[in-house]
Amino acid sequence: MSYNLSAVDGEAFYDTDKHEYNLQENTMKLILLGAPGAGKGTVAKLLTAIDGSVQISTGDILRGAVQAGTELGKEAEGYMKRGDLVPDSLIMGIMEKRLQEPDCAKGFLLDGFPRTIPQAEALTELLAKLDITLDKAVDIDVPKDIILDRLCTRRTCENSDCQSIYNVKSNPPKQEGICDKCGSKVVQREDETEEAISHRLATYNEKTAPLIGFYEKEGLLLSVKAVSSDAVIDAVKKELSL
Ligand code: ADP
Ligand code: ZN
Repeated sequence: MSYNLSAVDGEAFYDTDKHEYNLQENTMKLILLGAPGAGKGTVAKLLTAIDGSVQISTGDILRGAVQAGTELGKEAEGYMKRGDLVPDSLIMGIMEKRLQEPDCAKGFLLDGFPRTIPQAEALTELLAKLDITLDKAVDIDVPKDIILDRLCTRRTCENSDCQSIYNVKSNPPKQEGICDKCGSKVVQREDETEEAISHRLATYNEKTAPLIGFYEKEGLLLSVKAVSSDAVIDAVKKELSL
């Protein structure tokens, strides 16, 4: 049994079994796997609120870079619009830096990374180099028809400072096409047209789904079947005793 004395600022804690101070050992280090629309982002936000770890979303980092017009953003933009994966080398450059930021000592949830077998292999090497041990790779397994329906009906506020999410079926804005919060237009994301969605799902099946087998072999896989984010959270909390 160990007591984390400062989970919040990520400093050393005292391990009462080993009678020594230890860094990082009882913080949660997870990978979230799952198709686009499985709810990785929602689940990540809920879990970080519970245990004080940080969410690292390569999609968010990339969208931020595109908006800011950085070199990285310029390189990534075309791939993202089409629903293609950004090259592994760009992603590994981002992650190599990100995982060495001090806040990662609070534990982390990787959301949307790794996305390919080469990324997973490079991550294994990177973590060994940084002396970090993963706890689990959690696969959020949501039925395909639910995913498709969710992505096709998702709408986003086009104001980049707001980006509120709506759903035309389950959570429409009060006034059609207008954001409740800021009054801007509510639109379909550029990679959430039917064409880009089916491309993203095909890319997922071809390139990302094999990671389930990869982490199963490593003995790290936790598969959670669920149709709502709350059910996923409950299952993960139970499995990981959070
Ligand atoms: P979703 O999970 O809904 O597809 P993300 O926000 O995770 O959305 O990713 C959006 C886009 O960013 C992807 O379609 C892809 O172009 C790019 N991207 C994000 N993460 C990665 C990654 N690990 N490897 C390659 N491309 C990525
Ligand atoms: Zn808005």
